[in-house]
Amino acid sequence: MESIVSLCKRRGFIFQGSEIYGGINGFWDFGPMGVELRQNVKKFWWQHMVAMRDDVVGVDTAIIAHPETWRASGHIDSFSDPMVDCRICKGRFRADQLDISPDNNKPVCPTPHCKGDLTEARAFNLMFRTFVGASEESGFEAYLRPETCQSIFTQFKNVITTSRQKIPFGIAQIGKSFRNEITPRNFIFRSREFEQMEMEFFVKPEADIQEEWYNYWKERRYQWYKDLGIKPEKLHLRDHAKDELAHYAKACVDVEYDFPFGRSELEGIANRGSFDLEQHIKFSKKDLTYFDQGTNEKYTPAVIETSAGCDRTLLTVICDAYDEDIIAGEKRVVMRFAPHLAPIKLGILPLSKKLGEQAQQIEKDLRRFIRTEYDDAGSIGKRYRRHDEIGTPFCATYDFDSETDQKVTIRHRDSTQQDRVAITAIRVYLEDKGVF
Ligand code: ATP
Repeated sequence: MESIVSLCKRRGFIFQGSEIYGGINGFWDFGPMGVELRQNVKKFWWQHMVAMRDDVVGVDTAIIAHPETWRASGHIDSFSDPMVDCRICKGRFRADQLDISPDNNKPVCPTPHCKGDLTEARAFNLMFRTFVGASEESGFEAYLRPETCQSIFTQFKNVITTSRQKIPFGIAQIGKSFRNEITPRNFIFRSREFEQMEMEFFVKPEADIQEEWYNYWKERRYQWYKDLGIKPEKLHLRDHAKDELAHYAKACVDVEYDFPFGRSELEGIANRGSFDLEQHIKFSKKDLTYFDQGTNEKYTPAVIETSAGCDRTLLTVICDAYDEDIIAGEKRVVMRFAPHLAPIKLGILPLSKKLGEQAQQIEKDLRRFIRTEYDDAGSIGKRYRRHDEIGTPFCATYDFDSETDQKVTIRHRDSTQQDRVAITAIRVYLEDKGVF
């Protein structure tokens, strides 16, 4: 992990949030390369989950919802972790993650050399609180959403009446979520501000129909990570045991990845039954049922949820791509991103600064179609190394022969193999290699 974290900083993928003030635990900032990679991950999700389907539509809802939302969803009462405080070092820790002392069978304070006495476990709510309104007296307390899906449920009626969708259909959203995690860790794996990519698929509440769609989405979501370019041997599906399930859930499965720090969850797919809509019907006293005009039936739909973390997917893409090899006797670090995910698709490198004008013109012409970068700083070898580290799949070198043959040399990041390609054919060449 250390080499990955260091590369992410060195090459402008991910920085510690508020670094100049000493950082703030659990918050991260994405640099020029990170933001491109992140956009590409989200674009791929949106394309597969919304744009290429005719049975899923998108929404983008507010981060702050009416506080009743969280009463209805159960978050105010039960979205908490059991916490203990150390009476000596004053640290606060998750009670379910402590080592147990073999001497007295009691949990041990994890601060090195502390061994302090720990309090009884208390529930600590993970929602961030804030205040809406001009003053504390006239305003009201609200929460930053801990998941994006609740507003999908509360807007269910508006979406179905305006989108011409019929059940079965889904509503998808990508957006920020916030959880006051006690122990943010493993780089961006567990943070306090993160982004989710969620989809709620509404179906008729009949056991066999729910099961059919649950199995469908389980298979689709697992395949999505493979299509994204993740190594299949590092991806796993883990079905939840009955005692792990929330009381309303009928089934749940996690997509997991073998991170350098161990196998961990990327996404949960769950059959949530009709629980969510029923709760909002109860609390809002509004009719969120569905009337099926084909069969004249009225019912509260059941929901199959696919809930993925954008940051965890990004971390997966980064860990999966990271590689070190030897090129011409020298060690190099190379990010082997799938071309469609790479932040920069094509580096354009003039062999000499004298050729800059012509090389820049090629870059300008291609910019409309793909993300390119013109780079004339340092030796050509150094420029290749830099592009290897940011994962640019192809680099085109404009040399003195290019002036007469109107061709460039395109070098492949992974094999370092080189092809001579006509300037007018670069776009088609890259299209063939899957960068679009
Ligand atoms: P965990 O058990 O790891 O805390 P969870 O089961 O509580 O996760 P969900 O509530 O099911 O997670 O959220 C769905 C997805 O949102 C997770 O699979 C994960 O990808 C992402 N996610 C949840 N919490 C965080 C976090 N603190 N930081 C980054 N991503 C998160």
